Amino acid sequence: MKILVINCGSSSIKYKLYKFPGPTLIAKGLIEQIGEKASSIKDHTQGIQVLFKRLLRQKVIRQPGEISSIGHRVVHGAETVRKPNIINDRLIKTIKKYSELAPLHNPVNLAGIMGCRKIAPKVKQVAVFDTAFHQTIPQYAYMYALPFSYYKKYGVRKYGFHGTSHQFVAKQAAQILGKPLSKINLITCHLGNGCSITAIKKGKSIDTSMGFTPLEGLIMGTRSGDIDVAAVFYLMQKEKLSLDAMDKILNRKSGLLGISGISNDIRPIKDAAKRGNQRTKLALEMFLYRVKKYIGAYYCALCGADAICFTGGIGENNPRLIARLKNDISCIVPKKTKFLIVPTDEELMIAQLTRQFCTKRPLKRKKKKR
Ligand code: ADP
Repeated sequence: MKILVINCGSSSIKYKLYKFPGPTLIAKGLIEQIGEKASSIKDHTQGIQVLFKRLLRQKVIRQPGEISSIGHRVVHGAETVRKPNIINDRLIKTIKKYSELAPLHNPVNLAGIMGCRKIAPKVKQVAVFDTAFHQTIPQYAYMYALPFSYYKKYGVRKYGFHGTSHQFVAKQAAQILGKPLSKINLITCHLGNGCSITAIKKGKSIDTSMGFTPLEGLIMGTRSGDIDVAAVFYLMQKEKLSLDAMDKILNRKSGLLGISGISNDIRPIKDAAKRGNQRTKLALEMFLYRVKKYIGAYYCALCGADAICFTGGIGENNPRLIARLKNDISCIVPKKTKFLIVPTDEELMIAQLTRQFCTKRPLKRKKKKR
């Protein structure tokens, strides 16, 4: 059984082809610069054609129809989607509907789906949503204390993201600890360009740091994370900023980049800090402090954790930073709580969920009452 996993970003398509049982990774690749001026690939539909041509040329498949199923990463499924789902016209409508909540992601995810439908119309396609893992968060944790009508009218609440990564890391951590996931509590920290922390109680997400959008929570490469919204109004007034301009500042010009003034990448920031640059030192201190605060909050929410796990480009490759964090919180977190570095593999998780979905009868969806 061959399962293809597709992860469409705004100008890229990441893909991995697995053979089950195993699973064995038999092909992987990245198609970049989609839609950019210098590129011959104009859109994601064309990108998918290139992807299949590559697979045929590499002889890992003889024809597109040979693939058993395709698992797509889809960013936003809001409240309707709690599990992986077969992609049919109804689900396509749902993904389109939530494009409003994830304008940079859902439309390109959909373009990848449509491209695959064209080339491999008979192959089952499954959507795995970034938001799905967090659908177990209780209402008291996902609500914002706004007038309730905005939740009912517009679905304004915390959704959380990076769900597939947190789920994968939790599974791995349970294996490392040699305990069933249903019997342990974990705090998983996905620290990459985008950063989020999740509190996982007996295998289920009970809170996460990203919110209605991926802007809330930790300090990230270019995103501010938590901020007093009144400061945003104040800045808009003082600088005469439009909504779009303010959105760009919070999402693309803030975070590590905004504070350091050097980069969104932690490597040059660390280098400059070593040379004594004060703003990069501050950026690192702020970054760590915010992680520490969230770990503290989730440690309390969970009433203790068996392990605190780190993943993502920063989490996997900066052991000294993690050691520093461990030392800083050793006054609260007991020695028996393990600190684990667990490389994430969202594509493998999507492949496993797709296989699980396709080999079992899909569950009927229950409509959630608001
Ligand atoms: P994305 O969220 O875009 O997938 P990544 O998970 O690749 O991003 O994380 C990017 C961050 O990880 C950057 O800050 C980068 O500096 C850091 N990073 C990646 N590789 C290393 C490394 N080998 N050493 C230190 N930091 C790294």
